Amino acid sequence: MSSERSINFSAGPAIIPESVLQKASKEMLNWNNTGMSLMELSHRSGPFKELIAKIEQDLIDLLKIPETHKVLFLQGGAHFMFSGVPLNLMGENGKGDYILTGNWSTRAMNEAKKYGKVNVVCKPDEFNKIPPKEEWNLSTDASYVYYCDNETVKGVEFPDIPDVGDVPLVCDMSSNFLSRPFDVSKFGCVYACAQKNFGMAGLTIAIVRKDLIGKQLPYTPMMLDFELQAKANSMFNTPSTYAIYIAGLIFDWLKEQGGLEEIAKINLKKCKLIYDAIDNSNGFYKSPVEIKSRSRMNIPFVCKNKEWESEWLEGAAKLKLVSLKGHRSVGGFRASIYNAMSYEGCEKLVNYMIDFMKTKEK
Ligand SMILES: *Cc1c(COP(=O)(O)O)cnc(C)c1O
Repeated sequence: MSSERSINFSAGPAIIPESVLQKASKEMLNWNNTGMSLMELSHRSGPFKELIAKIEQDLIDLLKIPETHKVLFLQGGAHFMFSGVPLNLMGENGKGDYILTGNWSTRAMNEAKKYGKVNVVCKPDEFNKIPPKEEWNLSTDASYVYYCDNETVKGVEFPDIPDVGDVPLVCDMSSNFLSRPFDVSKFGCVYACAQKNFGMAGLTIAIVRKDLIGKQLPYTPMMLDFELQAKANSMFNTPSTYAIYIAGLIFDWLKEQGGLEEIAKINLKKCKLIYDAIDNSNGFYKSPVEIKSRSRMNIPFVCKNKEWESEWLEGAAKLKLVSLKGHRSVGGFRASIYNAMSYEGCEKLVNYMIDFMKTKEK
């Protein structure tokens, strides 16, 4: 890694593989012999149409997306989908079931209330765990069941896909999309914004079961209309061409890493290293999350004395370990270790955590 680069633990926008940035930089002035930057290229041009088709196919290959599902390249971030989900999927029964496990699922539910009824399936007293299924209160008449696979702020992740029967399952995977393989066929709709795990802000990918497309409420804005976007192959208006291109470079990088199975193994090793450091610190560091709901992507932790936090952060920054301050609602620290964070980066962090502890425990 080039020495001027920070080891960036930001929750998002987040670290991007250096080789991807280098490739983009090399192609900046003249992409693919077009004599122009990709930013300057018409989205209706042949070369761009070929590019987006290749990128879509790469995603289909990486995730083994079945024929039953359609990939959409959308905009407006994950927030736009908080509205897009009820607008497109609530029509059936006018009601959505929401599993609340953190800030993002709660925000999505509050948005859905504008368009119909919502039912809270479960909500822990504190957002530090996934409540067990025995405590869930699923409706019998919901149009869909919604959850957030990885709650980025407090670092709570579902260990596996919840079983909700025949009701379409909808998932916000913004902060762990492509971090491990998953069975797309189990979902009515999965979506993720790009700036956490596959690139830059401006792109949101949704994968929607085809038979659920075409049920949008009559006042759905055209930009959020799955049917319109699907018919136009995500080219209804100008898509975020550069963000799509960067996502494509990251899909290439993922394939070079050996695909999602391999990435999942590395991600597991990375988070284990950091959780072990926390758990073996004799209470010097603590994770506020229940062990079986701990996120592999976002690791919040605190140290024994709150007054040491700024010193800790300054010391980390001197080693180029940056963006480790906890979310403003949580405090402490948070290490986001998306796909592009290397194992070596996590090792540097853990060594620093141990060194800092030693200076205080002398
Ligand atoms: C970051 C994030 C969001 C918000 O994303 P925007 O693109 O800023 O709207 C929503 N959900 C999850 C799980 C996130 O990590």
